[in-house]
Amino acid sequence: MALIYHVANPLDWAQTLQQSKDYDAAIVPEGFIHCCTCPQLKGVLARHFPDALNLILLCLDEKRIKAEIRYENLSGGRAQFPHIYGSINLDAVIRTVRISSDPVDRKFNVPKTQIDWPVFDGHNDTLLHLHLPERGRGRSFFQDSGIGHIDRPRAIQGGFCGGFFAMFTPTPSEWNKDQIEHNGETVDISKAIDHVVARRNVDAMFLLAEDLEKKSPDDFRRVYSVDDILDAFQKNSIAAIMHIEGAEAIKEDLSNLELYYEKGLRSLGPVWSRSNVFAHGVPFVFKQTPDIGPGLTDAGKNLVQACNELGIMIDLSHLNEKGFWDVAKFSNKPLVATHSAVHAITPKARNLTDDQLLAIRDSGGVVGVNFYVGDLRADGEYKSDMPLSQLIKHIEYIIDKIGIHHVAFGSDFDGALMSDELKDITGYPKILELLRKSKIDEDNLAKLCYQNWLRVLNETWKEKSNKIQNPLKRRVLIVELDK
Ligand SMILES: [Zn+2]
Repeated sequence: MALIYHVANPLDWAQTLQQSKDYDAAIVPEGFIHCCTCPQLKGVLARHFPDALNLILLCLDEKRIKAEIRYENLSGGRAQFPHIYGSINLDAVIRTVRISSDPVDRKFNVPKTQIDWPVFDGHNDTLLHLHLPERGRGRSFFQDSGIGHIDRPRAIQGGFCGGFFAMFTPTPSEWNKDQIEHNGETVDISKAIDHVVARRNVDAMFLLAEDLEKKSPDDFRRVYSVDDILDAFQKNSIAAIMHIEGAEAIKEDLSNLELYYEKGLRSLGPVWSRSNVFAHGVPFVFKQTPDIGPGLTDAGKNLVQACNELGIMIDLSHLNEKGFWDVAKFSNKPLVATHSAVHAITPKARNLTDDQLLAIRDSGGVVGVNFYVGDLRADGEYKSDMPLSQLIKHIEYIIDKIGIHHVAFGSDFDGALMSDELKDITGYPKILELLRKSKIDEDNLAKLCYQNWLRVLNETWKEKSNKIQNPLKRRVLIVELDK
């Protein structure tokens, strides 16, 4: 075990180092890091930390860890020069950053610095990205590969603590396009896909998630209740909700739905942007309303009822408008769109109209705002040179229209084109910073980051938690380092 000391004053760094000699690591202000880049400092540090085998200096700004310097075998012959890591060293952060409602750990003089709220996110396609060799190129979830948008190291940097892990079956390219007539225009739409193809794909991703958890439950855990999510937060593991996007893997007579529930399914979007035996999805068309095509089929209505009974959340994202109103009519749970944006700003058929937003509010539901540039840009273009302020516009619009209790994040990381400014999941703190600048206070930010999701899930799932009235604050609580 190693102890960590918080260096409060950058000007008295030598003195504070002296004080911290009983500790094996220190948290230092940013100015200190610049001093540490000087190789001559090695001698000074060796004097102050004669017994340290591994000395780790963590640099924090107001909200998050920014850099780390690691000294190995400082007092031995093979002492290494300080090394600045461009990004956070994972091992150290996993073991040192804990989530706690306790603002200060007095025993170890832990800083009061509050880092960002835990981010819980309505949608990612990371399982598919890892599953398909042509997308993930064999990357590992546990290493920062720079490929795709989410892996464990980058999730930690972004403050991402969990969310909906979608199991989506892409339309095979050879059947990619179908066409429908709408408002006198011919609209391209993805063809329906085969049940067997979808089931094979979804089953493979269930196994993949199981495998991730088996390999490292400290890094990835499937969750089935709000208590499971809170427990994963506490243990600093990623809380993963198993979600099927597009219900093609479910048999029309629903005979395998319960089987998927037993495998861990807790959220289901009846459609992606295509039709199936249950409902009809909205195509990727600009300057169109979502009112394209008919409502739920009879099988779709049965699916809604069965999901209600089992406690599977129904996701309205990509469902066409008639289908949306059918779910609103037949479902007895809060209405949820896990990853959608605002039609009044970006008139894409995939986005939610004001009436849909109001219905979500009235049901006590939530909208996870999609970060996909094509759904956010006012010109509807698929271009990544979009300022992040455009995303904030969508979030603010929903807050103004239906209130802070009904908006959350639903990024679509690993499934969609992101803003260059955001890049990947490591960009989350930039979003939080912009929201703070737009005068969203900390209580409301917490609702947006995770509390709204937890509230809705608790109302929807069978297993109830009584803990969400006392939401956790995520703070830096550095206690020990198992190095
Ligand atoms: Zn989607």
